[in-house]
Amino acid sequence: MITTAELYKQYLKNPVISTDTRNITEGCIFFALKGDNFNANEFAEQAIEKGAAFVVIDEVKFEINSKCLLVNDVLLALQDLARHHRKQLNIPVIGLTGSNGKTTSKELVNAVLSERYKTFATFGNLNNHIGVPLSILSITEDVQIAVIEMGANHQKEIELLCTIAQPTHGIITNVGMAHLDGFGGFEGVKKGKAELYTYLKGTNGYTFINRDNDFLLEMSVAAGLTKLIYYGTENGNTIKGSLKSSDPFIEVDWTNHEVSTSVKTNLTGSYNFENILAAICIGDFFDMRPEEINNGLSNYQPKNNRSQLTKTENNTVICDFYNANPSSMNAALNNISKLSANKRIAILGDMFELGPESENQHKRIAEQAFVSNLDEIIFIGKYFYAFKNSEKGIFFQTPDETAQYLMANKITDALVLLKGSRGMKLESLLQYL
Ligand code: ATP
Ligand code: MG
Repeated sequence: MITTAELYKQYLKNPVISTDTRNITEGCIFFALKGDNFNANEFAEQAIEKGAAFVVIDEVKFEINSKCLLVNDVLLALQDLARHHRKQLNIPVIGLTGSNGKTTSKELVNAVLSERYKTFATFGNLNNHIGVPLSILSITEDVQIAVIEMGANHQKEIELLCTIAQPTHGIITNVGMAHLDGFGGFEGVKKGKAELYTYLKGTNGYTFINRDNDFLLEMSVAAGLTKLIYYGTENGNTIKGSLKSSDPFIEVDWTNHEVSTSVKTNLTGSYNFENILAAICIGDFFDMRPEEINNGLSNYQPKNNRSQLTKTENNTVICDFYNANPSSMNAALNNISKLSANKRIAILGDMFELGPESENQHKRIAEQAFVSNLDEIIFIGKYFYAFKNSEKGIFFQTPDETAQYLMANKITDALVLLKGSRGMKLESLLQYL
């Protein structure tokens, strides 16, 4: 069995990790992970043929030569290697979790900090028990600050990710109705996310908190946090901000009590106000000048189907089909209702991972949509379909059926919100808008 220290020596020679034989590069270390439907130990030989310097495996029968490094458990070995690497890096790591807005906030924090520092931020959404170690192992020696997104859908997951990323600073963007199934309801979500606060308390780290959010305040008190930096709309916060405009792009007035300034962003959706304020607060904490912070924010272009405003041939579409849960649906409906438009249309897909709350939460969102400032509502998916006899709304079981409808009933000159869970694949409908 190879030890973590020995593995680390090999990693330092060429610090490139692969977990997928399709993107092996010469000299990398291949970690043969297992999933529900695959066992990458079976690809060990292929990985070596493709140029991997070593393959880390946990089944002796696949040990074909000295390039195979046998461990007890490949996943644990990957996590241990990341822990070990993190310990060598003497830099601030900002751990970022929350129910909604993690990736957006992470991108914004990175956009701000990179105006001054050499930063590393989680690629895309690599925020789980595999993504976090891979992110940590991608941090090079020249990096000055890292921003690590941590996702969770059950208890003890953030606790584990903290032992890997070892954040010195942390932020929970918010707590909401997401992954209710795995967490066991909203109280479970709070408990699960608060694992970051508990870690920061135990390690004497700093926490950035949105003081407008009572749940976060309550959780910070329960965790006994003392090294707190507040942002929000009230006086008494280190960063105080107000939403100047959100139609359609967000503009924020803010002050650090020495300078008062204003920033225009390319983000739409008033819920992004709190994500922007978080990035300002973190930039300010790391001694950045207001103009550097504003530059980072105003140069950031959303490009990941999260609240992205797209002009199609016939309409303006709020592309928010990356994901959905009751909290983000609620925010998106509030947002579109307030935007200026000729005509407002919401195309809403089912929300997954809500467990026993599913029916109830879909009902709530459907009811909210009915009373929102919308000219037309199209619901897609089996959960929403249960309310097909409602007075309002058009209901379809699948995106394909919806496509047929949209071809026959062209939508033009409208502002359209397209939002649903990832599994609904609503992006397929963009071409009909
Ligand atoms: P995931 O759990 O998939 O990693 P995430 O927490 O990283 O999600 P984002 O990808 O940043 O979240 O945003 C997903 C969607 O959540 C956005 O498109 C938007 O609809 C909504 N959202 C973003 N920020 C907020 C917020 N502060 N409050 C409520 N909803 C938000
Ligand atoms: Mg994310």
